[in-house]
Amino acid sequence: MRRKAVIGNWKMHGSRADNAALIEAIVAGAADSSAECAVCPPFVYLHEMARLLRDSAIVLGAQNVCAEAQGAYTGEVSAAMLKDVGCHYVLVGHSERRTLYGEDNALVARKFVAVHSRGLAPVLCVGETLAERETNQTQQVIAAQLDAVVTLCGIQSLEQAVVAYEPVWAIGTGHTATPQQAQDVHAFIRQRLAGQDAKIAAELRILYGGSVKTGNARELFAMSDVDGGLIGGASLKADEFLAILAAAQP
Ligand code: PEP
Repeated sequence: MRRKAVIGNWKMHGSRADNAALIEAIVAGAADSSAECAVCPPFVYLHEMARLLRDSAIVLGAQNVCAEAQGAYTGEVSAAMLKDVGCHYVLVGHSERRTLYGEDNALVARKFVAVHSRGLAPVLCVGETLAERETNQTQQVIAAQLDAVVTLCGIQSLEQAVVAYEPVWAIGTGHTATPQQAQDVHAFIRQRLAGQDAKIAAELRILYGGSVKTGNARELFAMSDVDGGLIGGASLKADEFLAILAAAQP
């Protein structure tokens, strides 16, 4: 039985004061959650958030990482640094990184390796654009995104990872995938990985992301291959995020 997870991606929002208030409300509201709850604040707030989360079950994650281990990479942050400040999860391959910052499958796979090799848990984001969906390329695009990681890092690396299916056309747009659309892609992801290792595929948590809200979370999370959500906009409001977390509980 896979434990459901809800991960908040705060993107580039908030301030010290905003984030402290948000995290305090989440800590208070998530105390009895049977589903896993995690938040990914911007880099500069991670250290302080780790302190505020110290006595809670809420897990800390980062939104990005450098593929290199250390050195002359001005402005970058390594996996070791993220581990040092208390992160457990690291998003790799978020569609905003892929589209706005030119991260291709090869770079995303290298970032995945960097995270995995430090003992952190990568959250590998995959998903197709609207044009790709409309030209029936969804499976092909997602297969290439998965294969790049499995080829470089090996199927065993998925044991510590989470996959997030995030159709690009659903992120921040208010257009959520239907539960059946999400289920179909999640089942495809699981089936493709099962071709390499059935046990790892069966145990892998596959989250859905893309305009998840209180009104649609429960029916999305009820699908058999949807193991929770990666939440953007709705994770910035404690009451909405907590309601989504509640929808992930049986
Ligand atoms: C995201 O940024 O990963 C995301 C899913 O955003 P939103 O929930 O706002 O669509």
